[in-house]
Amino acid sequence: MTAPLQTDVLVIGAGNAAFAAAHAAREQGVDVLMLECAPRDEAGGNTRFTAGAMRFAFRGVDDLVALMPDLTEDELARTDFGSYPEDSFFDDMGRVTEYRCDPDLVEQLVNGSRDTMMWMHGNGIRFAPIWGRQAFEVNGRFVFWGGLAVETYGGGPGLVEAWTASAERAGIRVLYEARAQSLLRDDSGVTGARARIGGETVDITAKSVVLAAGGFQANAEWRTRYLGPGWDLAKVRGTRFNTGEGIRMALEVGASPAGNWSGCHAVGWERNAPEFGDLAVGDAFQKHSYPFGIMVNANGERFVDEGADFRNYTYAKYGRVVLAQPGQFAWQIFDSKVLHLLRDEYRIREVTKVSANTLEALVEKLEGVDASKALANIEAYNEAVMDDVPFNPNVKDGRGTRGLTISKSNWANRLDAPPFEAYAITCGITFTFGGVRIDTDAAVQDRDGMSIPGLYSAGEMVGGLFYFNYPGGTGLMAGAVFGRIAGTSAGNSATEK
Ligand SMILES: Cc1cc2nc3c(=O)[nH]c(=O)nc-3n(C[C@H](O)[C@H](O)[C@H](O)COP(=O)(O)OP(=O)(O)OC[C@H]3O[C@@H](n4cnc5c(N)ncnc54)[C@H](O)[C@@H]3O)c2cc1C
Repeated sequence: MTAPLQTDVLVIGAGNAAFAAAHAAREQGVDVLMLECAPRDEAGGNTRFTAGAMRFAFRGVDDLVALMPDLTEDELARTDFGSYPEDSFFDDMGRVTEYRCDPDLVEQLVNGSRDTMMWMHGNGIRFAPIWGRQAFEVNGRFVFWGGLAVETYGGGPGLVEAWTASAERAGIRVLYEARAQSLLRDDSGVTGARARIGGETVDITAKSVVLAAGGFQANAEWRTRYLGPGWDLAKVRGTRFNTGEGIRMALEVGASPAGNWSGCHAVGWERNAPEFGDLAVGDAFQKHSYPFGIMVNANGERFVDEGADFRNYTYAKYGRVVLAQPGQFAWQIFDSKVLHLLRDEYRIREVTKVSANTLEALVEKLEGVDASKALANIEAYNEAVMDDVPFNPNVKDGRGTRGLTISKSNWANRLDAPPFEAYAITCGITFTFGGVRIDTDAAVQDRDGMSIPGLYSAGEMVGGLFYFNYPGGTGLMAGAVFGRIAGTSAGNSATEK
């Protein structure tokens, strides 16, 4: 064993939650050390794979200008950002989690969201409007529709780069290829961690520790154990390094498990994508324009209401639905009327795509699908579309279907305008919902409901916020809000020791 290292606050992980924690701790004037198990060129966790969309409460355009002072007069004139009041964020969290989410944590998330964005901005993180994916152009103006207006400049890679540069400026040390293995604990609480660094085992003593090491989505064995049979077959959208080790370490020192351990965020994802995320492709394997088309399974049947709600409120739960289909796949089908609405991710090279000028020819090309049943079901769907209701992608237009066993509630259009296009998807898991229990200081709770002295946690590995589903853009926001709280608490606790 190499000689022990020492720090005031030890942060485990180097994604968004970890960087927020490290910065907040450093602001308390203490020494901060971060451990990242990935090599530098793969560092940054799931954060690096994101597009950087962040959901936060804003009262109107003035709040956005404060965050993005570079917005030009022309851009402002061409855009209707709307507003996203705290109440709407709170309601969205309740609604999509079927009112299971922890109200105290949600209140902190919602009420802390705008201030935390400004704090990130102050730490050198830049933001830009998500014109491309969260707004449609109507009469020459971009209208935002889903409460989600802002992404980090340069997406996830830009966010990790900006956090890393800002950490360097702030004097925060980051060790790469440094894997935390277990927490050090005595009767006074957590006193550091044992890690494997450069092939050596090292004990790092610390006055407090923040765990921000992600969920267990990259661990096929835990997925099967907790999410259920079949989840070993899901593709992992992001980093291969989030294998639940942070959660395991916390449980080993008595942390209470919390939240939706059998639940996760999972989406429709390119059928032939690799086992883990590919940084060169990022999140472009996702296929999220299904509200404007239909999806059929191997039996040629529709299996879900593609237009139940805006994409932001259904995409995170539909991956599970795709995984449950025979062969764990589906085809998304569109006609030429909506091709201009398809998100950029449909135009990458790495897609499994077929196209044809007739529906008869298209269904023959859908690999693995019963073609005659698919054709019959598409024809039945076409007959059921409410042609009398106008189509409008910016609102829940109520243009649904009549009389189908599985209805489509909004944005239903007949598939009748060639060329037709179809894209093959499977389930891509993003992150797991179960984790450790924290209180409103982000202190990890033990099984008696007491804080474990010296141990804090934030990000994906915290349970209690998300159940069943998730409003798009909340993962980064939650990581930032609770990372900041965890770092502040850890820094304060370190100064008191
Ligand atoms: C493709 C994709 C797109 C997404 N898009 C968005 C989006 O646009 N908006 C949004 O809000 N969310 C998005 N998400 C979700 C978002 O990525 C996560 O919610 C968020 O990044 C989690 O941050 P984190 O800091 O908790 O975890 P991570 O960023 O995953 O960081 C965890 C860190 O811990 C490290 N680690 C793990 N084990 C150890 C160990 N034993 N020792 C040391 N280090 C360890 C990992 O290497 C990693 O650096 C997306 C996710 C994916 C995969």
